[in-house]
Formats: sequence, C-alpha cells, structure tokens
Amino acid sequence: MPHARISLLAVLLAAASHAPIASAAAPTSPAQPDLQRQQAQINKIVAEISPKRIEAYITKLVSFGTRHTMSETESDTRGIGAARRWIKAEMERCGAGSGLQVSFDSHVAPVSARISRPTEIVNVVATLPGTQDASKDRIYVTSGHYDSRVTDVMNATADAPGANDDASGTAAVMEMACVMSKYKFDATLVFMAVAAEEQGLLGARHWATQARQKNLNIAGMFTNDIIGSSRADNGKVDNKQVRLFSQSIPATKEMSDVVRQLVATGGDSDSLSRQLARHTKEQGERYVKGFKVSVIHRADRYLRGGDHMPFLEQGYAALRFTEPAEDFAHQHQDLRTENGKVYGDLIEFVDFDYVAKVTRVNAATLASLALAPGAPQGVKLRTDKLTNDSTLVWQANPEPDVAGYRIVWRDTTSSNWEGAKWVGKVNEATVELSKDNVFFGVQAVDKDGNVSVASYPMPQR
Ligand SMILES: [Zn+2]
Repeated sequence: MPHARISLLAVLLAAASHAPIASAAAPTSPAQPDLQRQQAQINKIVAEISPKRIEAYITKLVSFGTRHTMSETESDTRGIGAARRWIKAEMERCGAGSGLQVSFDSHVAPVSARISRPTEIVNVVATLPGTQDASKDRIYVTSGHYDSRVTDVMNATADAPGANDDASGTAAVMEMACVMSKYKFDATLVFMAVAAEEQGLLGARHWATQARQKNLNIAGMFTNDIIGSSRADNGKVDNKQVRLFSQSIPATKEMSDVVRQLVATGGDSDSLSRQLARHTKEQGERYVKGFKVSVIHRADRYLRGGDHMPFLEQGYAALRFTEPAEDFAHQHQDLRTENGKVYGDLIEFVDFDYVAKVTRVNAATLASLALAPGAPQGVKLRTDKLTNDSTLVWQANPEPDVAGYRIVWRDTTSSNWEGAKWVGKVNEATVELSKDNVFFGVQAVDKDGNVSVASYPMPQR
C-alpha cells in the first residue's frame, strides 16, 4: 500500500470550521493513545473465563432431560420451566452485589407451524448497565438458546440433552454474565438465554422486535449456537478456530436508502455486520492468542439460520459464532445407537476447553466494544471535487473521553483493514489515497486507546 499522508491544512481548516464542536475539548489534538497496549481489564476477564464452570453449567442444563420449548414447566427437575428458573437463579447468584439485573422476558406464542398449542416463550435476560452517561444507551447483546430438540421438532417429551445445541452457547452467556458483571463498562451489556430457537427463532424475534419498537441502540449482537465441539464428523479435531458468520446486505425485496448507497459505492462488504465482524476478529485474536476468528461472508451456514437473524431483520448488526465443523450425528437427533454409531447431542461430545476459548473471544470482543466509544456517526466522503485524494468528514462523538479519530483503509479485495492514520481530534481529514481504489473507515479512539468499530463513509452530496 502507498504511504498515506494527511493534509495538515485540511486538518487545521476542519478544526477551525468546527470550532463550536472542537472547543469543548482541548484546543490542540492530543497525541495518539497507545493502540497496541492490551487493556488490563480485558486480560483479567479473559483469564477468569473458566472451563470448569462452563462444564458445570452444561452438565446442569443437560440434567433437565429435555428443554423443548413445549416441554413441561411445573417440575423443578425436568423440562424447560425448571431450566429457565435455574438459569435465572444462577445468574442472580453469580451477579449478586454487581449491577447485573436479571429478569424473564415472556410472551405467549400462538399456534404456528412449530407450535401446536399457545405456549409461553420465556427469555432469561441479564443486563449490566453502562456507567458512562454518553454511552449507557449503547447496547451490546450476546445470546445462546437454552431450548433443545430431537429428530421430530414437535417431540416435547423425549430426552433432548442439547449439550452442544445449545447448552454450549447458553453456558458461554452465563459464564460471561458471571465474570463480566464484576467489572464496569461505558456501554450496556445484555446477556440473554433465549427460548424457542428450534421452533422458529421465536424468543429472539420477540426481544429484537421489542428492541426496535423501543428504538434501542443495539450497536452489536452476537449469538453463540453450537460452539461446543472441536471434532468434525470425520473425527478431525480443530480447536484453534471458530467460525463467525456475518451478513453483507439484507436480502429484502426493496432496498433501503442505506443499502442502495452501499451497493452504489461498492460497499456491500461494509455493512454494519461486516464492520462488527472485522472488529471482532481483530479484538478476539488480540486477546485470545493462537485462536483464529474465521469470518465467513454469509449470514449463517448455507440456507440455515439462528437467533441473530431477527436482529438482522430489524436492521441491527448481528453475527453468529459456530464451531469449525459440525457433527450432524450429534444435533437434532433422537438418542440411539445404530450399527455401533452413537447419535444424539450428548455431553460426552462437548469439549469444555474449546467452549471456554470461544467464550473468551466473545468476552474480549464485548468488553472492548463496551469500553470503547461508539462508531462515528455521519461519516461522509466529500465528492464536490474530482480528486485523487480523499477527504472524509464526520460528526463529533458524544463521549467525554474521546481522544480523537483514526482513518483506516483496505484494498477493495481485502477483508481486513490494512492501513491506518491517526488524525487527532478533528472532524475532517484528507488522505492521499484515491477513494476509487480503497475502502475507508473512520474510528473513534478514547484516551485509554480503546478503538471503536469503523464507520463506512457514505457519499456526501
Ligand atoms: Zn441451535
């Protein structure tokens, strides 16, 4: 890549023309914070994620026999009712003394293709409110689904251990709530164990729809679904990576204005979800050494879905974590042995150390997002003159601890950022690179060196 240089004149002019905004801060832009420094709080959180506790969570979830969405709710030892009461009690116990708020989010689903009688669908939602006024309305959600199934999706009585699908994801969420609630973050974190994924994503859809109706600022959502096994169906073990599925632009009949502008500028790989995936890979691999976040440019596995989909439908950035290669003998199967081969989602096929690694990637990413400023808003590329350099403008971030901004770029065929330039506390800067040839992003950086997700510039008209 050619070395880029910021036009000092443009920076000075921009600072002058945005005097009312810039005057709230120091008159001269501070030096670039150390962006390579690891955040001590994130390292502590990653170290505290415990494979032993994750094993105990999965063991307990499996002990409920079945967690089918239409299974019984009266018993204290069997069925989905007992499971959700235990999840709630456990998160309350572990989060006691912190600000963690645990509650049920309940609604009654009417009869539909996969619901044979009106059924109460209950999500367990644990919220850790943010502590910075300018950031606490910015929310990051992590989820796993605690319901389970066998071969017949309507069978609510057969044993359905769901150890991998998805006690693994539920345990990850519970472990994160337990560990992370001991710490403070600027933004708000929501840890969700949702129901009725197998019956049509009903729990997640209910919550995501309410979130949009309440106009909640969900800046990122991650679902953890089938993160429990490092062993593929051919026996090959790969415990060094996790797949991260990320949608480009939504497949809707009509294009929204935002999507139309993305397509018009070649930015189909710069959707909110792709920006979040890029950031997740960077932060996850930074804090969990020797473990790869394999970003896949697809919303989910081929023509399949998960609890991030209802969030995508509502226009939020949402991603899915899944193990590297699934073993279909151990999901959605009646428990049985055929020709010496064991079928069923049994706990003996779960690798707790592997679940812990994926949980650490999640926790590091969530922590870095919730400590950092929000992605800059109103980012635009100036198009009033045809030039071979590129001038970007953006609105000032509201957080009081923002130290300045960084422009990042990459080749149009690359997935990850390749170049970066600190531009200081300004709202406009010029890079000597052609907007014809690279993709740009603008990030906000706080005084501690926490970096926001990048924002894609729309054309300024
Ligand atoms: Zn699942």
